[in-house]
Amino acid sequence: MPTRPKIDQAETAYLTNMSHFTKRLSQGQKPAGTNNRKGDATGFDSAGRALPEACDVAIIGGGVVGVAAALTLAERGHSIVLCEKGRVACEQSSRNWGWIRRLGRDPAELPLMQESLELWRAWAHRVGTDIGFREHGITYLAETESEFNRRTHWLRTAGQYASDAVVLDGAATDRLLGRSDHRFFGAVRIADDARAEPSLAVPALAAMAEREGAHIAEGVAVRTLLRTAGRVCGLATDAGPVRANSVILAGGIWSRVLLENEGVGFPQLAVRASVMRTAPGPSIGPGAFGTEGASLRPRLDGGYTIARAGAAHLDLVPAALRYLSEFVPLIRNNWRILSLSVGRDFFGPLGYQRWAEDEPSPFEAMRCMSPEPDLPLLGQALATARRRFPALAEIPVSERWAGLIDTMPDERPVIDAVRGLPGLVVASGFSGHGFGIGPGGGAMAADLATGNRPAVDPSPFRLSRYASKPLRT
Ligand SMILES: Cc1cc2nc3c(=O)[nH]c(=O)nc-3n(C[C@H](O)[C@H](O)[C@H](O)COP(=O)(O)OP(=O)(O)OC[C@H]3O[C@@H](n4cnc5c(N)ncnc54)[C@H](O)[C@@H]3O)c2cc1C
Repeated sequence: MPTRPKIDQAETAYLTNMSHFTKRLSQGQKPAGTNNRKGDATGFDSAGRALPEACDVAIIGGGVVGVAAALTLAERGHSIVLCEKGRVACEQSSRNWGWIRRLGRDPAELPLMQESLELWRAWAHRVGTDIGFREHGITYLAETESEFNRRTHWLRTAGQYASDAVVLDGAATDRLLGRSDHRFFGAVRIADDARAEPSLAVPALAAMAEREGAHIAEGVAVRTLLRTAGRVCGLATDAGPVRANSVILAGGIWSRVLLENEGVGFPQLAVRASVMRTAPGPSIGPGAFGTEGASLRPRLDGGYTIARAGAAHLDLVPAALRYLSEFVPLIRNNWRILSLSVGRDFFGPLGYQRWAEDEPSPFEAMRCMSPEPDLPLLGQALATARRRFPALAEIPVSERWAGLIDTMPDERPVIDAVRGLPGLVVASGFSGHGFGIGPGGGAMAADLATGNRPAVDPSPFRLSRYASKPLRT
């Protein structure tokens, strides 16, 4: 495959660049052209470009959701300014597994996932570079009958959106994997579930949005919303104000922090998940595979991205206590794989703080959240992967990393206008599966922000489904 080394280099270059950038920022250096001293803004992004003073829609956050909203709106001719405090995709959107799946998804999200898949197809075709988008299928493998029953139970809830899912018995699973060791009791598979390379895809889509006219401002932290007569009318950033007719908040784990500072409660917690990638190895079958204890996705560079599904760690911060009652069912259902502790960061940037538009915010204190991976957990996942796929018995690990996932009590995002803050749309809380659904989520936010009817019913994503009340008015 002649393209593999080239793509690997492109990805490595992005990650190396990102880590230099993050290091510079964490050492207290500002990106070129900006200044975050109190009340002092120079009006430039990290590329030294002047921040536009006004636009139709301002977007907070350069992850897959913010970028998708920017691309959608720029293609429709709106003027867009997207502010990203670090670099495009520097948090969840480059750290994820790269799965784009219907399989196992909350049925309420399936129409939006279908819409997202169409967008992935269209954008991958037009983006002008290989972002690793491949529809080679996703398969959940079951070693035991009870695991098989659990996996196939989902089919009964998924309805028409899973009509092309196939259930495989042990012999058919062996054939799919090209094996004859009867290791698996059976499997469930969707053949056109997909994948993409996160650290290639999101920056490439951001570049496409720029070609369509959006201004993507990296190194610009949004401190607060600007309001006039009670309506949101723009952003106060560390590089100066941006006026806008409406604002989309796609801030990942930071959405709660910003909303709380505006007096709005948002029941979102950040849980840490760890991932690794391997050196190139032999094929183990078509597409990505989920098994109990280890999930594997083939990468463009010929290696595998491996992690353990659902295994995560929650560092308790004040918000975790405030919203705890709403999270009890989620914690109870996942107690086997979710660990909790009161971390060093109890009073860190994700803790409880207040600041004004002319004061430095937590977003400047942490340009890129890059938590430490859980090495013992990754060791177990690797051992499981090697056991289940003997062809990978010797495969070496090339890199380990972690990311914080923006989790909501029902693990479904909010894509909605915010009562009490007219002019603001939130698209956040994608709860560990927003890479796949991010294009549709961004497009839905774009529609809501500009008064268009979304392509898909937005009611499953309403903010009002939560009990959280405004913190103050
Ligand atoms: C380890 C891991 C594995 C995952 N695996 C998958 C998977 O296989 N498939 C899948 O579908 N999903 C997966 N996910 C989830 C997926 O990555 C996320 O749901 C998705 O990337 C969320 O995108 P986002 O744009 O909402 O948030 P993010 O990617 O977190 O982007 C938010 C951005 O906003 C910026 N920002 C925040 N506040 C401000 C501010 N005030 N000013 C300026 N900028 C700001 C941040 O710097 C950040 O870059 C995984 C996540 C993790 C961590």
